[in-house]
Parts: sequence; C-alpha cells; structure tokens
Amino acid sequence: MQKFDLIVIGTGPAGEKAAVKAAYFGKKVAIIEKESMYGGAEVVTGTLPSKTLKETALFLSGKLEKGIYGIERGLEHEASVEDFMYRKNFVSASAAQEIYENLMRHGVQIFHGTASFEDAHTIKISGKQTEIIHGEHIIIATGSYPFHPASIPFDGQRIHDSDTILLIKRFPTSLCIVGAGVIGCEYATIFATMGTKVCLVNDKERILPFIDYEVSTDLVAQMQAAQIEILFNKAIEQVTPAASDTEMITIKLKTGEVRSVDMFLYAAGRSGHIQELGLDRIGIKSGPREQVLVDAEYRTNIPNIFAVGDAIGFPALASTSMDQGRVAVAHIFQTEDLEHLPSHFPYGIYTVPEISMVGITEEDAIKRKLNILIGKARYKDMPRGKILGAQSGFLKLIISKEELRILGVHIIGHLATELIHYGVMLVEEKKTLYDLIGQVFNFPTLHELYKYAGYDGLSSATGHKVKP
Ligand SMILES: Cc1cc2nc3c(=O)[nH]c(=O)nc-3n(C[C@H](O)[C@H](O)[C@H](O)COP(=O)(O)OP(=O)(O)OC[C@H]3O[C@@H](n4cnc5c(N)ncnc54)[C@H](O)[C@@H]3O)c2cc1C
Repeated sequence: MQKFDLIVIGTGPAGEKAAVKAAYFGKKVAIIEKESMYGGAEVVTGTLPSKTLKETALFLSGKLEKGIYGIERGLEHEASVEDFMYRKNFVSASAAQEIYENLMRHGVQIFHGTASFEDAHTIKISGKQTEIIHGEHIIIATGSYPFHPASIPFDGQRIHDSDTILLIKRFPTSLCIVGAGVIGCEYATIFATMGTKVCLVNDKERILPFIDYEVSTDLVAQMQAAQIEILFNKAIEQVTPAASDTEMITIKLKTGEVRSVDMFLYAAGRSGHIQELGLDRIGIKSGPREQVLVDAEYRTNIPNIFAVGDAIGFPALASTSMDQGRVAVAHIFQTEDLEHLPSHFPYGIYTVPEISMVGITEEDAIKRKLNILIGKARYKDMPRGKILGAQSGFLKLIISKEELRILGVHIIGHLATELIHYGVMLVEEKKTLYDLIGQVFNFPTLHELYKYAGYDGLSSATGHKVKP
C-alpha cells in the first residue's frame, strides 16, 4: 500500500491549494478526483463558467459600448448559444489544465476515482480499478452540490439547477429563476443581458439580504430597468414540465398565480458533497445540509482529518476555500505562515452591474447602535466614470463618527469586484478617513471614488456638506 504524508480528496480550489502547499513544504502528497475534469465548482460548474458567461453577455449585447458611444448596438441575438458558450468552455478547459500542471510541477500524485474512508488513515479509491492508500493526514475538500427539493422535476433539459444551466443547447426565450441569492441574481442579469425575459421568484422582501440596503435597492432598480421581473415575498408551489418541446413549463405560485416559461432554474441552496465518503464508518461529525463540522483550524472530530471549502459550508467561496486549504496545511505541518483567514474578506457578486463589499453595512451599524457617518461618491461624477460613460454606480463608506475609522465599503458598478481590494485593506488595517484622503491615486481612475467618498464622509463629519 502506498503511504503519504497527506491525502487530499477533491481538486477544487480548496483541495488544489492544500495539496500544492504541502508538496511545496516537501511532504509526500496524493490528491483524488472523481470527475474527468480538475477544478470542481470553481472551474467546471460555478465560478469561472458563470463569470465568463457574464463577460460574454456584456460583449455580445454591446452593453458596455453603449455607455461609451451612447449608441444602442442592439442585442446580437443572432449570436448562437455556441458563441455564448465558446469562451466559457475555453476558460474552463485551460483552468483545468493549469491545475493539472500545477499539481504535476509540485510532484503531487494524482489518483482518479471516488474516495471513501476505510478507517481514519486508509482511503479506498474506486475508479477503473480499486486502490487503497494510506495517509498520515487527510483533508476532505469535496465541495458542494446544488440542493434539489423533491418537488422540482429537474430534467437538465428545460428544468435546471446551476450545474445543468451551463449545458443548454439553445437560449431560453423566457426563464423563471427561483432563489434571489448570489447565483440566482447573477444568472438573472446574465440571461436578461442576452435578451431572455427573466422572472426572479424570491420568498423574501429583499434580494441579497446580506448586502447594504442602498446597494440592493439600486440593484433591484437596475434589474427592473433591464426588464427583469422580480417577485418579492412569493414562493412556488408547483413546477409542471412542458408536455412537448413546443409547449411551456407551468409555474404555479403559492398565491395561486400561474406563469408559463420556456426554462426554469432552481438556484436556492447547496449541500455538502460528502455522501460517498463513508464518514459514518469512522464517526466524522456533520451538521445540517451535510456539512462537515470543524474547529478553527479546520480539524474534524478525528484529529488527523481536516475539512475545508464548501464541504464545511459558509462562506462557500472559491476565494476563501483556497485559503482554508492553505490554513489547514499550516496547522497539519506547522508551517507557521498562515494561522487563520483574515477577519475581513470581500464578497464579489458578478451581477450586471457588479457588486462588492467588505465590512459592516449601514444597517448592521445601526443595529449595533454604532455612531456612524456615510461617505459616498458616484461613478458618473468621476472623470474616469465619464470616460466610460457610467450612468449609475456608487461607492459608499461606513465610517465611525468618533475615530473616523472606515468600517465598511460597498460598491455597485463597473469593476466593483476589482475596486474592493483597496477597501479590504482600509477596513482590515483599521485605516481612518485621513489615511484615505492622504493617498495619491492615479488620475483618472475609478479608485478616485474612494478619495471623493472620503471627502464626502469628512464633510459629513464637519457638518460642512458641499455636495448633496
Ligand atoms: C454558479 C456558481 C457561481 C459561483 N461564483 C463564485 C464567485 O464568483 N466567486 C467565488 O469565490 N466563489 C464562487 N462560487 C463558489 C465556488 O465555486 C466554491 O466555493 C468553490 O468551488 C468550493 O471549492 P471546493 O474546493 O471546496 O469544492 P469544489 O470546487 O466543489 O471541488 C470539489 C471537488 O471534489 C471532488 N469530489 C467530491 N467528492 C469526491 C470523492 N468522494 N472522491 C473524489 N473526488 C470527490 C469533486 O468532483 C470536485 O472536483 C460559485 C459557485 C457556483 C455554483
């Protein structure tokens, strides 16, 4: 039986980064993948495919050019679904290849097949042949899968989850999406940009309830302007598949209303992908939604077994999953380089327009009875915003009134997910408004939004408001 210092199960972002880090520190590492393509949800079914489709939709629809030239190129609906999927397939394939090469470069031994526990140190790999390997330590990085309520007749043809929507063979003329979380909102704006009539069903009174209220209100207004119908406080009762290819799917809402649509996407929730691991056999504890329970070092209740990424639940992001993998390795092999994730990390939502945030929202601050000021700057007032033809978008700072410390940054607009990283540094390093306005920024750039939001915050602090 082959013996390893570390066995990692899963080649998604959490598993890949854990495996290469341990190998970099001279450990003998094995990684196991059950799918033919490396990279998990980050590469095959989630992050990169959806982000690529967003850029493709912006390009094919001419939406960005419209701002610059003030012309409506009109939707290129002649663009085929193959055009729409071309770049997504290219990006996924090259990212998967990059993961393979990275594992190889680091000398990680790759096994193909489905991993399951025989005991706390022994893993069975069921593939073309069965192999048994021994690991001093084991990291579970098996990710998550889309939650399937029994009431939805998923068929992967016209009734989809977030995996199968990536395999459509034609554009839907109309699409009903259930779930106004990140995935639901992103796909709603992507398909609407491509000219599909989209209806988003949301059982709450807000979409994306964790983001700043002003930002979510602005997103709703922009989604509605893009002809997306958002149903608030409504839930579906029944989805009836179409009787034939030429007929429509019937969606019955709990209110009794009925909608007919071409395609349906259920995007509400994911569960930990742990079913095949045989965790019960060795007594590893899991919680609700099949998520492995871990401590602050990502250690399970069995001391030599760790779990990271989506398999442990929140925040379930590719960005944080990678660092959870690296942190787990730091604790396993005492590399003393990365003890934990920072207390503040950014959220990026790749809707049209993009949203990104770090730190507390205005509502959080009010709930916690913090004495705060708001500083705000708009894209259309920045010279770079004018060059880009920005019609909307803003950056909002949440500032503590006494120390003028920056507690939160919220951005909606072009490149928000890029712009946020300076804000992460401001919040994480407890910077003040004076630190911010004392910086020189390239001119003209969108980063100037920070400086002018800072001045706006300062004018609120001094009571000498120059701009409304
Ligand atoms: C539509 C969508 C959009 C997203 N957008 C973003 C985004 O913009 N930004 C962001 O940061 N995150 C995003 N995410 C989340 C991100 O994709 C996940 O958080 C991340 O991929 C989780 O990484 P992971 O390594 O834990 O698991 P995964 O990426 O799911 O990888 C797990 C791997 O383990 C393998 N596996 C499972 N069980 C076994 C077994 N028993 N044996 C062998 N192999 C096994 C799987 O085949 C898979 O390859 C998105 C997710 C989705 C679905």
